[in-house]
Amino acid sequence: MNAGGRQSELRRKLHGLGFDEVRFARVDGLAPGAEALRAWLAAGLHADMAWMERTAEKRAQPELVLPGAQSVILLGVNYWRDEGQKAKDAARPVWARYALHDDYHDTLKAGLVAAGKAIEEVFDAGSADYRYYVDTGPVLERGWAARAGLGFIGKNTMLISRRFGNWLFLASILTRLDLTPDAPLKKSIERQKPENAHVGLLCGKCTRCMDECPTGALPQPGVLDARRCISYQTIENRGIIPRELRPGIGTRIYGCDICLEVCPWNRFARTARSVLLAARGEIAELSLSELLELTPARFAGVFRGTAIKRVKLAGLLRNACVVAGNSGDTGLLEPLARLAGHALPVVRAHAVWAVFRLAGAAKAKEILAVAHAVETDAAVLEEYGAALNVQHPTSNVQRPSTEPTTNY
Ligand code: SF4
Ligand code: SF4
Repeated sequence: MNAGGRQSELRRKLHGLGFDEVRFARVDGLAPGAEALRAWLAAGLHADMAWMERTAEKRAQPELVLPGAQSVILLGVNYWRDEGQKAKDAARPVWARYALHDDYHDTLKAGLVAAGKAIEEVFDAGSADYRYYVDTGPVLERGWAARAGLGFIGKNTMLISRRFGNWLFLASILTRLDLTPDAPLKKSIERQKPENAHVGLLCGKCTRCMDECPTGALPQPGVLDARRCISYQTIENRGIIPRELRPGIGTRIYGCDICLEVCPWNRFARTARSVLLAARGEIAELSLSELLELTPARFAGVFRGTAIKRVKLAGLLRNACVVAGNSGDTGLLEPLARLAGHALPVVRAHAVWAVFRLAGAAKAKEILAVAHAVETDAAVLEEYGAALNVQHPTSNVQRPSTEPTTNY
């Protein structure tokens, strides 16, 4: 079999393993998106994600990850499912779609192990001739995927597929194999300047994602200010969520898909296969009051095997407090008052905020009198101080402005 035949055979095998997209890109100097990454980090838009800084040069230079790398194999797995009425049920918190599965890092990895074996078989290669990653590795997957024509990078910073919309998990295999690259969606992409000029390639005049972001986290096309992003705040940030961002979190308890959901390219979304995924739709059925009552044992049982477990019980309770504060549901005051006495300050702080937001200052003072009297943590005391300075508490869900506010 000639080289082209072997590459077709590999593509066929990878599709057969459950990868919906299989594309190839050539390694040629800096990774696509490397300069944009450096500028993003220099501007401090990555918040406190120090690991992004630590891995930046590896992301920019594939040679540092796999000496002699010549090609990247880009793999996409569609994860969209029609959630129908469930997603529209205002009483239930909203989860990022990807989270409602067994952790994709694990399930896709099983496919990548098999993909490695396929590479070895088809090209008579050794296991040292490739390295694979799912999302967290030092690879600029979206840039490579755009170079390989798997899609384009939208103004929402996501890789958008013409076949699947915004709903692809991406994985990559760096390899020393010399593979024929697939064409990007527009042949002149790499020649455009600046390097990331292809952001929004097929967005046209649309700016929906930027307009609809409730916290103003997309200040420019293709530029995410992680500090303002609900996904960052509810997942990566393990501490206090800035007060001015909490109203914009609305009902989002873990992650945020707003800038993906509003994208018109999702008209091409189609139901996922289940080869490399294991849906955990039952998580979306949990009510807010159930979440506020989570115990360590229940948390471990319900979220076992999912990416959600990474925020730990404290992170999820914190997020649940914020969502409860935004819910307008005074029936949640009782569990919130209990959480105002939780062992962890990060939970107490957000519970205090939520009680004030739901009940108003006068009633909240009554509800929290005992908890306040014994509180010693500076961050929690600051929540009390900020709340008691507010003249007009509200119990309505608010759309925040893009400028910081201190409203309750
Ligand atoms: Fe904004 Fe949500 Fe998109 Fe983050 S994920 S940029 S908060 S819409
Ligand atoms: Fe582009 Fe519009 Fe989709 Fe944003 S919502 S990524 S601007 S097409």
